[in-house]
Amino acid sequence: MKLLKFKIFLLAFALSHITNAQKVTYNYIADSTNLETKKVMELFEVYLASKPENQQKSPFWNLQEQKEHKKYDFLESEFQPSLYMGFPVHVLGIKSKNGVYQIKAQFGACNENGKPYVLAVCNYFAKKENGSYKLYNALTFNKKKWLRTNVGFIDFYYPKYHKFNNGEAEKLNNFIKNICNDFGVTPKPIEYYLADDYDEIQSLKGFDYYIGMGGETKPSGKASGDKVYCGGLGEYYPHEVFHAEIDDHYPNKHYWVSEGMATFLGGSRGKDLHWHLKRTYEHLQKHPEINLNDLLDLVNLDEYTSYHYALGGLIAKQIYEKGDWAMIKKFMNSGKLDIDYYNAIEKYLGIKRGNLNQYLREQLKTEVQK
Ligand SMILES: [Zn+2]
Repeated sequence: MKLLKFKIFLLAFALSHITNAQKVTYNYIADSTNLETKKVMELFEVYLASKPENQQKSPFWNLQEQKEHKKYDFLESEFQPSLYMGFPVHVLGIKSKNGVYQIKAQFGACNENGKPYVLAVCNYFAKKENGSYKLYNALTFNKKKWLRTNVGFIDFYYPKYHKFNNGEAEKLNNFIKNICNDFGVTPKPIEYYLADDYDEIQSLKGFDYYIGMGGETKPSGKASGDKVYCGGLGEYYPHEVFHAEIDDHYPNKHYWVSEGMATFLGGSRGKDLHWHLKRTYEHLQKHPEINLNDLLDLVNLDEYTSYHYALGGLIAKQIYEKGDWAMIKKFMNSGKLDIDYYNAIEKYLGIKRGNLNQYLREQLKTEVQK
């Protein structure tokens, strides 16, 4: 789920002329004169004014979620650099039932010629904790409507129409045991949300709308903290589970190391590494001008694969075949910079950057013929 970064960056850039960042306005609010509704409006305003992008301890958010999660506001990290990147907030409605309030807010702005940009329409909940209102993630309330099955380290959440596949769930739990053993880390319990369509999960998280919504429904996944979200991928999608279980233990690695390892071990977008390699090979055959000596400058190949999945996966596979887990662990700690990644390839595979184009094209050919 990295496709949207570029678009959002453009939006954030377009917003840089807006001076009154994170200003809150209201559409029509029913009960707006009601004292309790007013308190909820105030709560939301002070939270937005408190620099929530920093996710520091907050008197406006409930204690339970703050205790359990360092990044307690799950929507904060859904956009880069943050949901709270400065878009003015327009509250569309506040609904209440038995003392629980649901706030629906639009993050968006108008550009110079008056055309509206909408980043997202998000839902928050508010409820009293020790006598005063606190904010809650929509997910905390919404997930109660889904079914839950625990298998080992994983709490699976899924909609009622879904027939739970126990075999696949067990397979994912075994994947966790195996990779944690291979990487020498303790497995952590995770929540795994699955549905046929990723937008059902977005809605569960509290999104009525997000930029990039629409188009043909494709398998999609994302890991965030101790949560994995998967649309159209069933109970077994190890790519995101790798990110959830291992990434934090190896912070000193390049983005391509992380994505390459996740794809090597768990495929990407529902297809295994071999599928991505074949697609990449065919593309590169048609484009001899693409220079893999600068492979880190390459981004999406098409809407189904990306170079960091395919070539990152190929490089991870070769390092594993050469030096097993011991070398992989070193590779996972080889530095964050582009130069570090090129150096790691030279160190572990013995290939200088200037020979990468020839080498990778040859290796791809060998792999797709297997
Ligand atoms: Zn990934």
